[in-house]
Amino acid sequence: MNCRESIDVLADYLDATLTPDVLAQLEAHLRVCAPCRAYLATYKRSAELAAKVNRVEMPPEVRQRLRDFLSR
Ligand SMILES: [Zn+2]
Repeated sequence: MNCRESIDVLADYLDATLTPDVLAQLEAHLRVCAPCRAYLATYKRSAELAAKVNRVEMPPEVRQRLRDFLSR
């Protein structure tokens, strides 16, 4: 598996929907590829963040800033 293929399956990896075969290939690639490990960490963090944002109400100051930005 190369980097592009790994990144293609990362979303499924986080959803735990990969077949054992693909999972083994991805884990083998991650063991030898630091950039993909870093990408996975970032991807995971933003996925968690997005999940949190959906659950939690947007803080008023952020909403105001967003409104200011959009009305510019
Ligand atoms: Zn890679």
